[in-house]
Amino acid sequence: MKRLSAAFLLVSLIMLSACNHSNAESYTAYTTGMDTSASITVYGGGAADTDDCIKLFKELEKQLSVTDEGSAVYRLNTNGSVEASGDLQSLIDASNRFYLQTCGAFNPCIYPLVKLWGFTENKNKVPDSESISFAVQTVAGSALSVENCKAVLSDGAMVDFGGIAKGYTSEKMCAKLKENGVTAAIISLGGNIQTMGRKPNGTPWVVGINAPNGNGLVGTLALGEAAVVTSGSYIRNFTQNGKLYHHIIDPKTGYPVDNGLVSVTVVASDGVSADALATAFFVMGKEKALSVYESFGVEAVFITEDTVSVTKGLEQKFTPDESIEGVYKIELLD
Ligand code: AMP
Ligand code: MG
Repeated sequence: MKRLSAAFLLVSLIMLSACNHSNAESYTAYTTGMDTSASITVYGGGAADTDDCIKLFKELEKQLSVTDEGSAVYRLNTNGSVEASGDLQSLIDASNRFYLQTCGAFNPCIYPLVKLWGFTENKNKVPDSESISFAVQTVAGSALSVENCKAVLSDGAMVDFGGIAKGYTSEKMCAKLKENGVTAAIISLGGNIQTMGRKPNGTPWVVGINAPNGNGLVGTLALGEAAVVTSGSYIRNFTQNGKLYHHIIDPKTGYPVDNGLVSVTVVASDGVSADALATAFFVMGKEKALSVYESFGVEAVFITEDTVSVTKGLEQKFTPDESIEGVYKIELLD
């Protein structure tokens, strides 16, 4: 529920800005799936274009779901191999690349741990430490490959593309819209936003960053064509004995990440990088993420309990919300 309301907040902000400034006709369609709510707004297009996007979204969800018994990912996790579509091959390639480039912080084979913590079936509980140690061993190492057009997993490994699938999907939707001749669009898949082209009135796209404490927004980003993805501990979580446990897991310890960050937003030129890196930076922690973000050609906003830290490339693009005065300090990172 928390996740959905956060997503709706973000969507409504974007819709607001799209309507307020629009002097050319826009068309918006809504759907749900991939555990979130989605919206697609197109300029210079209409229902046929958004329908194409929704079809793509549903098709990818059907392939990638970890719980749907008919999905390719479910069969891969159950049988250890599956015939891999082009999409599955692309996702495996991208996931393995980010696994290596983030020194394992982004791990597509995290599923045994995600399942153990009950995040797939919404049956959350703190697992016993032996089960966690065992699952940590199964997620260690590179276990996923493509061999002769088949996706293959090594023994005991199980995939979960939850940390990258929405970024991939929004990228594919943009490509479809471009193919259809749509000149400008904004897609929101929960915390994953992708803008395409320029708004017809020439103003930038305005993307809100949710305040992790649930009170509106910490601020907005004014951007051209970009992918903006947020990973946060406030989105999917549960509390046991007064301690909060959330869905982003450190593959090395097997426990939800606990490093002071409550959200990380990554701005990149493509959805896959933004999504994978938002998850990875959250796992790495602020200090480590700051030492590597430039090598990926991305910018980021890191939020802790009391500070919003903005990397230098976003300095001119970020406008803090008035409501955060006295709640969050703003730190500009050079
Ligand atoms: P995101 O919201 O993009 O950060 O993705 C979080 C989702 O990705 C979780 O709900 C899990 O399904 C999965 N996940 C959790 N921890 C990791 C990790 N360390 N690497 C890759 N995926 C993860
Ligand atoms: Mg992600």
